[in-house]
Parts: sequence; C-alpha cells; structure tokens
Amino acid sequence: MTDNIHPPIIEFSDVTKRFGILTVLDHFNFSVAKGEKVTLIGPSGSGKSTVLRILMTLEPFQDGKLTLAGTSYHEQGGKGRFHASEKHLRQIRNHVGMVFQSFNLFPHMTVLRNVVEAPVRVLGMARAEAEARALELLRMVGLADKKDHYPVQLSGGQQQRVAIARALAMRPRVLLFDEPTSALDPQLVGEVLSVIRALAHEHELTMLLVTHEMRFAREVSDRVCFFDKGRICEQGAPEQIFGSPQADRTREFLSSVL
Ligand code: ADP
Ligand code: MG
Repeated sequence: MTDNIHPPIIEFSDVTKRFGILTVLDHFNFSVAKGEKVTLIGPSGSGKSTVLRILMTLEPFQDGKLTLAGTSYHEQGGKGRFHASEKHLRQIRNHVGMVFQSFNLFPHMTVLRNVVEAPVRVLGMARAEAEARALELLRMVGLADKKDHYPVQLSGGQQQRVAIARALAMRPRVLLFDEPTSALDPQLVGEVLSVIRALAHEHELTMLLVTHEMRFAREVSDRVCFFDKGRICEQGAPEQIFGSPQADRTREFLSSVL
C-alpha cells in the first residue's frame, strides 16, 4: 500500500476520459505502490483497457492528472488531445511495458529482432548488448531455440511469450497485461501464465493485470479491484474479493464467471 514514505508509482487523480458523448472514466482515482501486483476484473466495457491504454499513453484524457514513476501530466479543458509534449509522453512511456491480448509482434521480423529492435532504436542500446539481453529474456520465457523463427511459425502461446520478452527488453518499471491469455486456445494458456507467475515474484516490478483467469488472479495478486462502469466498485486482498465480496455487483459478476 502507498504511504508518505513510499509514494505510489502509478496515480490517477480525478481523471475523466470520454469517447465522444460516452464518459468512460468520471473523476477516476487509483494508485498502485511500487512492486505491487494488482488485478483488474470486471464486465466487458467497464473501462479496464482504457485505464491501461491511458497509462501507456495510447489514449489522451479530458481532465485530471496522471503520475507515473514521478513524472506527471495534466489534461484540462475537455479537448481530448495530448497536452504534454512528445518528449514528456516518452518519459512516461519509457517506464511502462504492455502486453496485449493480440500479441502484436512485428510479422516481418524474427523473434530475436522483435525483442532487440526497441532497445536499439528507442534506448540507443548497442546491438550486441541488446542481442545478448534479448537471448537471456528468450531463455527466460523458454524460447531461445526459436530466435530465428518468424511469428507466423509460432503458436499463439509462444508468440505471447515473445511479446512478454519484448516488453521486458525495455526494462519497464511497470508492466501492463491486457487479457494476455484471452486469445489463446485453452491448452496454451498455462505456458503464458507460468511466465507471468515468474514475473509476479520479482519484487521491484509493478504489475497491473486485466484477466478473466480468476484462479490465477487469486494466486498472484496483492490486490484485486472489481471494476464496474468506470469505477472501482470494490477492492481488497484476493481472499477478501473472491472469498467474501461485499458489494452485490461483485457477487453477481463473480457468480457469472466462476
Ligand atoms: P473493458 O476493457 O473493460 O472491456 P474498455 O476500456 O475497452 O472496457 O471500454 C470502455 C468503454 O469505452 C466501452 O463502452 C467501449 O465501447 C468504449 N470505447 C473504448 N475504446 C473506444 C474508442 N476508441 N472509441 C469509442 N469508444 C470506445
Ligand atoms: Mg478490455
């Protein structure tokens, strides 16, 4: 939990996000402590992906303030365009990695190049160093032997493990997962969850995970937030949320998915 000595690494303060006339987040407040592993659960369309996309600076917002690893930016005036400079946005983005439901690997690059490219281009890392690091990460996700393959030659589970290695190559302080196993055949879910489980043991890494894998959420999260209609309706330790949910909406949701 956050306190005065350990300021949160992520903080949404009164963030309002609209798409046209649809208000997805209305004065949204949410903070995550450094190293904390937080899972967002909730019905489809409740705004979970929007929260992650704002953190990744993929979406501007209309009002409020976002702070990430000590860098803040404000949005005001309802225009829905980024007010921060590109440099400022990059400062924020460099702290965050994101893994999407649909892997999003570069199809024309080998596995190794997929992992090497961003550290070389964005961080200016020497190619040899980036390759050594990429191989280490590919070993960690169990895919070093596939380094010269192209994404199309891999299973969905393997592609997602490459996507995780690629996100880690940027040495993010915050790692975001948006339904990382939802697009996978059931028999491939386990291998991806194993990699995420290993990362959840990394003390320094802050993780924000959106998933429908409730058993997994219970196992790896420090905190579970039940999200409904753009608000955190209820949050707490996994034992509390899954074991004795207080809000009717949480109970209804859990009984529909468990
Ligand atoms: P979740 O991830 O919880 O399913 P989302 O954050 O994707 O929810 O979506 C929240 C709401 O915002 C939904 O009503 C969705 O239709 C809407 N929305 C999301 N992205 C866009 C967009 N680019 N344009 C318009 N509406 C959007
Ligand atoms: Mg979503």
